[in-house]
Amino acid sequence: MKAGKDKVISLHYTLTVDGEKVESSHDRSEQLWILLGHGQLIPGLEKALEGHEAGETLEVDVAAAEGYGERQEGQIQRMSKKYFPQANRLKPGMVTVLQLKEGGQRAVTVHKVGMSAIDVDLNHPMAGKALRFDVAIGEVREATEEELKHGHAHAPGAEAH
Ligand SMILES: [Zn+2]
Repeated sequence: MKAGKDKVISLHYTLTVDGEKVESSHDRSEQLWILLGHGQLIPGLEKALEGHEAGETLEVDVAAAEGYGERQEGQIQRMSKKYFPQANRLKPGMVTVLQLKEGGQRAVTVHKVGMSAIDVDLNHPMAGKALRFDVAIGEVREATEEELKHGHAHAPGAEAH
């Protein structure tokens, strides 16, 4: 079966940026389960998987525009230190996660640390970066009705929620 929209794919991946390993599913030993065509992956990776089958390995280069987007100017914002759980440990260049008022989280990069406020860069930490994915496809199968309804894949053993 070929990967494509409304198929579920399992995979292992390693993400490399500027020649450095950023993250790898091998570190967690569990495969990632993805419902294709529902925005679970960045567009460039999703496109690259299309038409491939179980057991294949791929090297995928994703340009910033097809990854986490280009960096945008004017995304530096000054915020009170009280919004940062570990404000005193933060240094410029570090990535930290902010809780949003409307719920959810956002990864930001520390730009400058002041006495009572921290300037953060709201660009995604991977914005503007060319991404390299080494992907090993485990399985490709049809999505279940429930998965399509939920808009995500269910890993084995995670069906009930
Ligand atoms: Zn679900």
